Amino acid sequence: MPDHERYRKQILLDKIGEAGQKRLGESKVFVAGCGGLGNIISGALVRMGVGKVVIADRDFVEKDNLHRQILFDEDDIAAGLPKAIAAQNKLQKANPSVKIEAHVTNINPANIKELIYEADCVIDGTDNFETRYLINDACYSAGIPWIYGGVTGTNGMFCAFVPGKTPCLRCLMTEPPGAGETETCDTVGVLPTAVSIAASMEVNEAIKILTGQDNKLLGKMTRFNAWDGSWMSFGLKKNENCPVCVHGRYDFLDPKLTEG
Ligand SMILES: [Zn+2]
Repeated sequence: MPDHERYRKQILLDKIGEAGQKRLGESKVFVAGCGGLGNIISGALVRMGVGKVVIADRDFVEKDNLHRQILFDEDDIAAGLPKAIAAQNKLQKANPSVKIEAHVTNINPANIKELIYEADCVIDGTDNFETRYLINDACYSAGIPWIYGGVTGTNGMFCAFVPGKTPCLRCLMTEPPGAGETETCDTVGVLPTAVSIAASMEVNEAIKILTGQDNKLLGKMTRFNAWDGSWMSFGLKKNENCPVCVHGRYDFLDPKLTEG
């Protein structure tokens, strides 16, 4: 039975209700990365009562994270804490009933299958395309839905990729963009509120999947600009020759092919 005192106001929502809350409590989600996106994502999942939340990030908390990474503070920096552990510490206090598993590691072909094992959904909080292609391979090979999200400057994007229902990331772009080909937060900066919006929309997509609901955004990629308020969704197109979702070839899971 859900904790009615804690979840009263989201159980009241017709989008969630008693049944939805129960399903959230029975769900397991893997959050890839615990930076700006991962902070908001893991925070929302734990506070909303997703049964088990697995977080992986290899970085330690630094001062230039604090303007957007809302789970961290200066004490975490002084203590030299890894982000995954600092997030686990904060969130376990916010909701002790959720099982939170923290991994201080980079996500790689050797560990991703174990990290996503039995997950009902995977949410992208990473900042690089190498890892996203790896997530895409791992999730499509295991039949697990995953939610893409990304932010640079004042722009953000998000999209749910669901094996068997939607095209995949490799349908959109066969190869990841090379280093230096795309803008990053290191080159153009990032607006904290744009991060919050993208991460919140990723969580919404995940909640709809976890509670088994219809989704008007399914099969679409959405882009927005948080500064001028522009918002646009476009349909994903299946690549009939996609290595991943058509041919079942998972190049990025094979470390020999992705090295160098
Ligand atoms: Zn595909």
